[in-house]
Formats: sequence, structure tokens, C-alpha cells
Amino acid sequence: MIVLAKKDYYEILGVSRDASTDDVKKAYKELVKKWHPDLHPDNKSEAEQKFKEIHEAYEVLSDPQKRTQYDRFGYVGQPQENVYGTQQGNPFNQQDLFGGFEDIFSVFFGQGRTAEENQTRNIRGEDIYVTVQIETKDVLYGTEKEVEYTRYETCQTCHGTGAKDGNAFKTCPKCHGTGVVRVQQRTFFGVMSTQTTCDMCGGSGKIITEKCPVCGGRGRVTAKKKIKVRIPAGVEDGGRLRISNGGHAGENAGPYGDLFVILRVKEIPGIKREGRDAYSEVTIDFAQATLGTEIEIDGLEGKETLSIPAGTQPNTILKLRGKGFPYPNGGARGDHIVKVNVLIPKRISKEQEELLRKYADLAHTGVNEKKHGFFR
Ligand SMILES: [Zn+2]
Ligand SMILES: [Zn+2]
Repeated sequence: MIVLAKKDYYEILGVSRDASTDDVKKAYKELVKKWHPDLHPDNKSEAEQKFKEIHEAYEVLSDPQKRTQYDRFGYVGQPQENVYGTQQGNPFNQQDLFGGFEDIFSVFFGQGRTAEENQTRNIRGEDIYVTVQIETKDVLYGTEKEVEYTRYETCQTCHGTGAKDGNAFKTCPKCHGTGVVRVQQRTFFGVMSTQTTCDMCGGSGKIITEKCPVCGGRGRVTAKKKIKVRIPAGVEDGGRLRISNGGHAGENAGPYGDLFVILRVKEIPGIKREGRDAYSEVTIDFAQATLGTEIEIDGLEGKETLSIPAGTQPNTILKLRGKGFPYPNGGARGDHIVKVNVLIPKRISKEQEELLRKYADLAHTGVNEKKHGFFR
């Protein structure tokens, strides 16, 4: 399992937050040229990952609607209210991505995938997105959540082939088992011969003679999954966890997609989070501020005692050290930062008024005299 910080699409494309759609397009074109997997034969998988990210960032930032949503919430897509909702039709499913890949290939290299690539291509299953709600205290120490969802799994009866007993095939009569067919096209330059994937067998070179009765020839079956997900300390609202191979099985025994667990952290009213620190406000009266006191405030783990030193001024910032949030990779917790508001009472009792007048008289004959005189 890998913890993903909220992806910064702007950073991925190397553009500023107020970049125009044209700037985004320009940056994207440069980057896909640079990171095309074919140009990085030595670390192809890294290049592919990078390529995917660039494409994902572009999909969002080039679409004004998606971009607005991303700017506001830090992600795109509709995490469902229901905690174990499986997100279908998310904007980054594998199908879309492949579509995008083809486009890029044809734009920059003047051709699509070769027939050979098509033949060996077993399509990876789609990713699944599940939303999980956690409490603030779960962020402090981490937790474990049970996640239930439905996915496609490779049919065990036919081992994903879709054929009865896994062997009810015959050689494709159209391509004679090669998976590719030649097509002749008359063009401006003369007759051109190109190879394409055989449409009869889909490039596999084989035709199913009898379908697997369990999966109906699709090679995969729906299954309910129940897994325990370890949520590390320090995660943020909108953060995602990726569980490799937790998504749908691919067709034709293709590899599994991933499961993404989107975390929604329930806030404690009145407490905001900013990185590792927690922020809140508290209001005391002027007597407490003048004399100093100890008060109880809401902290991340229940009540906390906050010491107000004598002579505290309005808008003073006090810190409860180490009472903030942890980082996902460990290290010390941040602070809980409290802004102190000082209230001047609008109404006081007769007795309070008498005492206050006495205080005022004393104040005027004491150190404050000069200041008092200055304003006269
Ligand atoms: Zn089957
Ligand atoms: Zn064929």
C-alpha cells in the first residue's frame, strides 16, 4: 500500500495556479514529448507512470469545470456520501487513459499502436475508488478500517480465457492465428498496405468455440470484496491510499487495476487544520486576561488545559506544543495554536461596578497617570 499525498497537478505540469488553458496545453505538450515511454527504454515503467500523471493533470487542468472542482476540493470526481460507495465512471478510468494514449501516440508519432503491440496487449482492469470516513483522532494514531466493495475478478473456472474449461478454442479463420490482418488502402502516394488488429478475434488469434458457463465468456466474474485497510497516522482530508491490484480484473486475464481509498476526515467543530498545526479561537473576559488563569478548551483528543498568563492582550496567540497533527512519515506532532479574544462585558452587576470604579481610581493615581494625561 502506498500513501499518496494530494496530487498537485499544477506542480506536475510545472505551471502556476493562474496559468491559462493555453499555458497548460503548452506545458503538457512539452512534457509528453519528454516523458514518452518509448524514449526511456531503461526505465519504461517510471516514464509510463510519469506519462500517466501528466495526462491526468492535463485532463483536469484543461477542463475549466474539473479545474474549478480540483482547486476547491483537491481532487476530481464525486466521492459518494455512502462510506463504501464504489465510484464508477471516475474521470481516470483505464479506458479513458488508453483512449488518451492513442491520441498522444498519433499526434506525436504519426501512428497508433502497432498490430504487434495490440496482439500482446492484455487490458489492465479499471481502478476502483472507495470513500472512507474517519474521525480526527484516527488521524493522530492511525486506524484500521474494513472496506467492502464489488469488483470483477478473473474467472477461476476458465482462468480468464472465457472459453469452457479454459481450452474450447479454435484458430481464428480470418487471421489464421496471427491476430493481425493486412489492409490495402489507395492513397495519394499509391497503394499502402498496413497491418491492423484482426477484428474477428480481437488480436488473440483464437476464437472461443464454447463459452465458459460461469462467466459467460467474459473471463471475469463479479465478486464482493471485504478488506482491512490500514490508515496511517497523519493523513489529510481528501488524501488517497492506493492498494495495488485491489481494482477490477482485466478482460482476457489482464492484470488487476488498483483500489483507491479516498479519505474523508470528520472535523472537530471550531478546529481547523493547516499542515501539522491545529487552529482555534477562545474568548475570555478582561479580568481573566488581566489576572491570568487556566481554562479548558476543545483539543484534538478532548479537553485540554490552556494557561492564560497574567496581562494577556487581545488577539494573543498561545500554543499547545505537540498537540497538533502528525505527519504520515512520522516525526513530532505539530502544535495547537489558539488565538485569545478578550471580551469587554456589556453589562455588569452593581457590586462589580463599584469594584471596577475603585480599580479605575487606583489605576489613575498609579503608573497609568501619565498615559491618561497624554490623551487629554
Ligand atoms: Zn469463465
Ligand atoms: Zn483473428
